[in-house]
Amino acid sequence: MQKQKNKFELVQMSPQNTNSVVIFGGDKCLVFDPWGHADAWEKYFAARGVKPVAVYATHGHPDHISAAAEIAKRFGIDWHMSHLDMDLIEWGNGLLDYFKLPKLSAQDQAPVDIKPGEHTILGDTKMQIVHLPGHTRGGMGYILPDDGIFIVGDTLFQDSYGRTDLPGGDEKILFGSIAKIVDMNLPDTTVVIHGHGMNTTIGWQKQNNPFFKG
Ligand SMILES: [Zn+2]
Repeated sequence: MQKQKNKFELVQMSPQNTNSVVIFGGDKCLVFDPWGHADAWEKYFAARGVKPVAVYATHGHPDHISAAAEIAKRFGIDWHMSHLDMDLIEWGNGLLDYFKLPKLSAQDQAPVDIKPGEHTILGDTKMQIVHLPGHTRGGMGYILPDDGIFIVGDTLFQDSYGRTDLPGGDEKILFGSIAKIVDMNLPDTTVVIHGHGMNTTIGWQKQNNPFFKG
């Protein structure tokens, strides 16, 4: 029998337009880039009758991690982010403060470091983690090949790419990461979930994004 695909949901918590992503496996889920307040996330999980088992960040910008450490604490789970982005945790406190969200402490709310490579999540789902620096030093992409999902963060957008003028950003390195994605030859039908804006597919990127080249 063919394995049932994991469902996913794009979530935009107030007060901004960052895409958070939830991958469901039965009554468990994984959360990527949880923006907003942990209270809102607790309500979200309760409404869907699911329990988060891990939190992952594509990178360390505040709009992708604001609720990560607090969700992890409340549910007794780990949150994962590349330690190459550790310096961004407290750098982002200005924005969190502006949006009246709790500030983060890199020391007290430290994430588990991410190791690129193949991981198994939600029982038996394969997840490949790839290092995609350039938007930040520790940018990570998450590929679920059996589900046809690629969570790319701010490395790639619908028809452009993420900014490179913030700490750790480097345009040349970012283009190298995009070339790495092109070289992975993912199926055209793979859904690409960006950190902001609408989902696309690898096929769409090939056709429409002038920066999507090796
Ligand atoms: Zn970002």
